Amino acid sequence: MLPLSEQDRVRVLSAVARRGARYQILRVVVITLSLLILLAVPLSGLTRVDLWSGDHRLLFERVDLIAGLKGVVAGIGICFGITFITNVVVGRFFCGWGCPVGYVSRLGEDVDLAKKSRLRRALQHLAGAGFVGTFIASMMLWWVSPAVLWEGSWTARLVTVGIFAALCFGGFAHAFVWRFGFCLRVCPIGLYYRYVTSSSPIGIVFSEKPSPCIECGACETICPVRIDPKRLGDEMPGLDGSTEAHALRYGDAECIRCGDCVEACNMIYAKRDGETPPLRFGFTANRTTPGEGADAQSESSDPASGAAK
Ligand code: SF4
Ligand code: SF4
Repeated sequence: MLPLSEQDRVRVLSAVARRGARYQILRVVVITLSLLILLAVPLSGLTRVDLWSGDHRLLFERVDLIAGLKGVVAGIGICFGITFITNVVVGRFFCGWGCPVGYVSRLGEDVDLAKKSRLRRALQHLAGAGFVGTFIASMMLWWVSPAVLWEGSWTARLVTVGIFAALCFGGFAHAFVWRFGFCLRVCPIGLYYRYVTSSSPIGIVFSEKPSPCIECGACETICPVRIDPKRLGDEMPGLDGSTEAHALRYGDAECIRCGDCVEACNMIYAKRDGETPPLRFGFTANRTTPGEGADAQSESSDPASGAAK
């Protein structure tokens, strides 16, 4: 049984999916690119260490262990550098769009969304298992040649398959137990980004110009990291209660720029002709605080039932 907050998120996700999730294809493209890079580096021989047969590679040539290790460390460093630069400009965008671990959480949610159809559930399980298996394989290929499976001793094969199965089990637990809680509280890369690139010039923007927020709560309910997207960027009081002389701003370090709140807000405004959803991607300098810039109408609606009008 999912925690209540997760059930509510799935409920709003389901409403968004019924009306057409606009970012679905883009998210699949970004995550596929991410996975292809992880697979291509060791398979092409750009760099990898082979702990089984010593077939270490660097720049497509066979090298010794030390050179292979240097190549792998450099490869990890380059991947890290690219995501770091991305995060300086658009915050934790990589966490919300390009990270395979985060995407596994969505695959678990896809199974929940298919709850009424046994066939759809089975297909979603299959798709999830395929993705997790490919991701784990891509990670292992940096450290062992795939030839171990057909040329290795039975012991070498058993150890390789055992490690693969254990990591896949971890992926299963992630999809059905931890989900985005892992990204928020445990992932070392996510925790690092929280402190190093806590704000960015581009991100999620809440602005009641030109149309006011109707305070339906859909954005808060759908947010996977449990923050209020309307308050993003608000000044946080320091320990002494002052808001001066410190740069901490509400939610920017936790927000993974996944766009789910923007999807939910768009769903709510789909039938509100001529009005603009107050949540969108854009320059964070254009944010307003709730109630500022337009007379907010207090109108309630069930977030999962769609637009209020
Ligand atoms: S109208 Fe949009 S910004 Fe306002 S509460 Fe609803 S989803 Fe959030
Ligand atoms: S605030 Fe919006 S973009 Fe940020 S994590 Fe929550 S739902 Fe995703």
